[in-house]
Amino acid sequence: MNTVSKPIIPSPAPRSSRPEILAEEIIERLTYRIGKDAKVAKPHDWLTATILVVRDRIIDKWMASTREVYATGAKRVYYLSLEFLIGRLMRDAISNLGLMEEVRDALASLGVDVNVIAGLEPDAALGNGGLGRLAACFMESMATVEVPAYGYGIRYVHGLFRQQLADGWQVELPENWLAHGNPWEFERRESAYEIGFGGAVEFITTHDDQPRYVWKPAERVIAAAFDTPAVGWRGKRVNTLRLWSAQPIDPILLDAFNAGDHIGALRESNKAESLTRVLYPADATPAGQELRLRQEFFFSSASLQDILRRHLQQYDDFTSLPDKVAIQLNDTHPAVSVAELVRLLCDVHGMDFDQAWDITRRTFSYTNHTLLPEALESWAVPLFERLLPRHMQIIYAINAKILIDARKGKNFSDGEIRSISLIDESGDRRVRMGNLAFVGSHSINGVSALHTDLMKVTVFADLHKLYPDRINNKTNGITPRRWLQQCNPGLTGLIREAIGDEFLDDAEKLRALDVHSSDPAFQQKFAAIKRANKVALSNLVASRMGVKLDPSAMFDIQIKRIHEYKRQLLNIIEAVALYDQIRSHPELDWVPRVKLFAGKAAPSYYNAKLIIKLINDVSRTINNDPSVRGLLKIVFVPNYNVSLAEVMVPAADLSEQISTAGMEASGTGNMKFGLNGALTIGTLDGANVEMRDNVGEDNIVIFGLKADEVSKVRSDGHNPRAIIEGSRELAQALAAIGSGVFSPDDRNRYTSLIDGIYSHDWFMVAADFDAYAQAQREVDQIWTNQSAWYTKTINNTARMGWFSSDRTIRQYADEIWRAG
Ligand SMILES: *Cc1c(COP(=O)(O)O)cnc(C)c1O
Repeated sequence: MNTVSKPIIPSPAPRSSRPEILAEEIIERLTYRIGKDAKVAKPHDWLTATILVVRDRIIDKWMASTREVYATGAKRVYYLSLEFLIGRLMRDAISNLGLMEEVRDALASLGVDVNVIAGLEPDAALGNGGLGRLAACFMESMATVEVPAYGYGIRYVHGLFRQQLADGWQVELPENWLAHGNPWEFERRESAYEIGFGGAVEFITTHDDQPRYVWKPAERVIAAAFDTPAVGWRGKRVNTLRLWSAQPIDPILLDAFNAGDHIGALRESNKAESLTRVLYPADATPAGQELRLRQEFFFSSASLQDILRRHLQQYDDFTSLPDKVAIQLNDTHPAVSVAELVRLLCDVHGMDFDQAWDITRRTFSYTNHTLLPEALESWAVPLFERLLPRHMQIIYAINAKILIDARKGKNFSDGEIRSISLIDESGDRRVRMGNLAFVGSHSINGVSALHTDLMKVTVFADLHKLYPDRINNKTNGITPRRWLQQCNPGLTGLIREAIGDEFLDDAEKLRALDVHSSDPAFQQKFAAIKRANKVALSNLVASRMGVKLDPSAMFDIQIKRIHEYKRQLLNIIEAVALYDQIRSHPELDWVPRVKLFAGKAAPSYYNAKLIIKLINDVSRTINNDPSVRGLLKIVFVPNYNVSLAEVMVPAADLSEQISTAGMEASGTGNMKFGLNGALTIGTLDGANVEMRDNVGEDNIVIFGLKADEVSKVRSDGHNPRAIIEGSRELAQALAAIGSGVFSPDDRNRYTSLIDGIYSHDWFMVAADFDAYAQAQREVDQIWTNQSAWYTKTINNTARMGWFSSDRTIRQYADEIWRAG
């Protein structure tokens, strides 16, 4: 027995927030951590030094947050997501710690502009779009509303590709966000797990006569943890984003190397590391990439092993797991976790199957994000079985339980049985990840009221019949810290001046702005801020693209992934029709407009890439035509990401949310724009429906077919040709595009795109065109009365508080996780 008395470990002194101390520490980090003299330091060095100083101020709270959960035995929430579209972190962290002014002053005293170095921080794009951005907003809100939570995902070396335009075509370049290192993350060498693939399953009898299945994987890699702190508003809580990186078990095969096979000696290592090298592009069809399934299992297994280890550190066994742990599956990408938890409980921890299954279902919940059949994940049975043989067995065992219950207990028909089965037998047999996530969860939520209703009658109709109390709605939200306070400091300042600071802690308090919406003095200030934001965007467009914009024109913005259902095509066709109108009727008072687009297309999505090219072709023609007299300008801003959104959203007068009704699960871009005082033109789709309910129908411009009308048109047989022939505007615009007016170098470039509208018009572009064009003229009308315009847009800011992700997270915490 060691008799040395327990050492008294001193706590580090609390960090000061005085600018002079901050400045001293920045110099200290620059010198001793980065090894640079202040005289020769590059802007990047200042950025790193500043982040290190800010990070220290987070660490104390981080450790306190962790200690608290151990002390109180509070339930932990785990958010599993293959994507986290976090963007830059420094401003978020500084602002949430309440240190913005102090850091600015400290840097200024050193001759450094905080805005300049903040602009150098890489935009971490570990996600494709809305789903990944939601995960990032949730991380911030979970810390803000003080839910003890961990985000789990993958530390991709290359996030979403960087988009360039070459002659108007999208070109994809690798994104290298880790090029300058990542001062935010901590590698946790002690938190590493083995992840297996392939091999075989053996059946053994343990020493106490218990039957056991043992998976003997053929390949193994190590999952290593990298932690990034997630700071809540006012620094209340700091949670952890834990991203997994794949590493080889044997970094180098020394025998091979010494025998002269220098490349072969590193093969293992390269193979392991390639697992987490790139983010898989959304919408890439077919998604049947083995690497993708490997990524999904890799991060699911690592996360679950980590969760179980942490649970056992604090509690005796796993019977308490559902009371102490809630695991949220963000879409089906982590759905294999359901089988993995059963495997770990049974095969590794010796639990019997029925108990493991009961614990699993009470622990998991699942968020569905799409009703598009092509986006519902499934894996060919042979691939799944080869890569995850034990999980395949478990899935069959689960399936047997479910189907027997449905057949015997509930008298389900053959058709119903087929649709709830975890195995799709309709063609080549496939494992349905949506069904696996559904049956393995106690809660399945949609992300807007409309989407949740549709889920019950479409994809999950039969599963809903089997388990009628599981489907519920949690309408998405956005964090008002990033999407108002940080991206729009001008507007934030004005709101504080008008209604005080309460809205900073409770976004629904923005309602108090309502009474100012018709006040001319307030409108003028609001308009001045909008104009300043438009000037800032114009400067960005001028410097990046050499295009000059008039900030007094209406800025009409559509930024989001390029997809046929999001209908950038409808927008650009309407622009062509407007172009015709402006030239035919020069005597009318046209409202000057700048139509801005931005967004990436999945590399394999041909039509989406063609739509980008079309926007650029139309833009070149219109912008260079003197008969337009500057009344219409079209700009496609390349490389849409979170940082670009932060500049474009505050500068929008008009927000385009025009998806084919029934196809956008929620949208969150729509919310960002409304909060920043844009008028929305949109269909009754996704969260637009609830936006209309919140802002009032006078403060939003709604047009087009509704979701039930779209499905009726589709099932009754849609005749787009007749519609086009009945609409002169549309017919002329389509004829111009189709015949090569905008593509004189390749007259047939758009033939197939336009033929698609004539022949089936799946996305209802022709069906909605007239309504859309008319709605746009209604928008023009409102614009001509600037006072009416600002009443509506101020009302939008005032009434969008409900869409704060704090509200969404509170609902998850109360109704699904029962935590926090
Ligand atoms: C908000 C956001 C999205 C989601 O936009 P939607 O309009 O809802 O599709 C996608 N990408 C980025 C970078 C975002 O900030």
